[in-house]
Amino acid sequence: MMPAQTVPNRSRRCNACGTRYEPYPRRSGAQRFCCEACRVRDFKARQKLLFPPGPVRKLDEPPQDQAGRLTAACARILGRLLQGPATNLELAAAGGIRYGARIHELRQLGHDIRTGPTEPSGRVVYRLEVAR
Ligand SMILES: [Zn+2]
Repeated sequence: MMPAQTVPNRSRRCNACGTRYEPYPRRSGAQRFCCEACRVRDFKARQKLLFPPGPVRKLDEPPQDQAGRLTAACARILGRLLQGPATNLELAAAGGIRYGARIHELRQLGHDIRTGPTEPSGRVVYRLEVAR
């Protein structure tokens, strides 16, 4: 009878290249690739999905996608301000607790948003100046 060890056990199929391979002996964890090159290739493909190549937004630039659209929170705040002056509480309800950052981004996009005086209660009124 032939010893089992001499028979190649090509029971696994590589997740990257599809080749059947014999798993490394005495390895803990699930081995999914036939070789290191395939493991690295798969890792880099996944990274590309998470961090697509393209221009990286600088911290002082407003967040825009390639089409130049506003983020959802910016769009909600702008939509609220287009209806008329809004208090900080109303803007927080529309754009989240970081509404101030979204206003900063909208201003960087050229929207003329004016801030009224802070009342003793902490209430502030924001107003969008619409060009006529
Ligand atoms: Zn492979």
